[in-house]
Amino acid sequence: MQREYFCCGCGLFHWLDMYVKNENCRVDRAESQGCPNPKCKRQAPFQSDIQVFAVDTMSYAYFAENHKDFIDKMKWSSQKYAPPKAISIYKKQEIPIKD
Ligand SMILES: [Zn+2]
Repeated sequence: MQREYFCCGCGLFHWLDMYVKNENCRVDRAESQGCPNPKCKRQAPFQSDIQVFAVDTMSYAYFAENHKDFIDKMKWSSQKYAPPKAISIYKKQEIPIKD
């Protein structure tokens, strides 16, 4: 099962596994793994305060309401980071899809 995230560093909408198996084969809820985009400025060591929101949270809803222009300007996704089903929705939402 995957969950949708938005990165404030590069505007990437991406999907990550929601649960991970730990070494005892127990299933744990995955912590946010950060932004998967290697070119994202969040990868710089001193930029880890840049937030990555889970899109289904209230904090993202609040952020989106207050930073609509920022999201419109920054938003993008890629088949590398999102499943095909999400990509077709993004296209309808006019989110640019890059390689
Ligand atoms: Zn990013």
